[in-house]
Amino acid sequence: MNLYKADLHIHTLLSPCGDLDMTPKNILAKAKAQNIDIIGITDHNSVRQCYLVKELAENDDILVLCGAEVTTSEEVHCLVFFEKDHQLIEFQDFIEENLPGFLNDPSFFGYQVVIDKNEDIIYEEELLLTSALRKSIDEISEKVSQLNGIFIPAHIDKSKNSIISQLGFVPKGLKFDALGLSPHCDFSEFIVENSYLKDFSFVRNSDAHYVDDIGKVFTELQMKELSFEEVRMALNKIDGRKIVKI
Ligand SMILES: [Zn+2]
Ligand SMILES: [Zn+2]
Repeated sequence: MNLYKADLHIHTLLSPCGDLDMTPKNILAKAKAQNIDIIGITDHNSVRQCYLVKELAENDDILVLCGAEVTTSEEVHCLVFFEKDHQLIEFQDFIEENLPGFLNDPSFFGYQVVIDKNEDIIYEEELLLTSALRKSIDEISEKVSQLNGIFIPAHIDKSKNSIISQLGFVPKGLKFDALGLSPHCDFSEFIVENSYLKDFSFVRNSDAHYVDDIGKVFTELQMKELSFEEVRMALNKIDGRKIVKI
């Protein structure tokens, strides 16, 4: 078994709130400089920029988990990841079917652009990506499970847009692989207040919107090798894989 450092919550310039310097190239360079082995690309309600990050990382020792940070109808943020492109495409279709028609105002919310290898803009998203989808957390978790993805309610300690702020608790029966923590969460205090969650896996992520924040906090995973399935096994504590440090 080996230890790997993961930062599974990183926005690109596609997110309206993501800095325009959050290009795939800059994200990978910073992750490498911070000795991060696994990064999760999680733009608000879109997977359109993650493909390029994965492609550019092909010759590196960095595992890129492609996904998104979805906003459920209850306004809960959740991280989702898929291994295969066809799963990502199907999930993107699902998002677009359920994203309300509010338009983005780039001068107010920020630009929502996808770039190519040459850093030319190839797509601009017109709908506001931070809107809540017309699907509940249960429905989204179910969709992710059907597509064999990974599902992680994000920054559950936060006072807004978290499962605890919106629902009051983590419901029994909700399917997820791990629970996310914000960078500054005092975990020992959190787990005393929420002791019913003590047996679940937690991951602490940067939720970086700026290059400098990538890898400032991370989670250490014990697994056999860098792969999507090994990450899933670590989150679910299977066959000696586990989270060793948050
Ligand atoms: Zn969030
Ligand atoms: Zn985020």
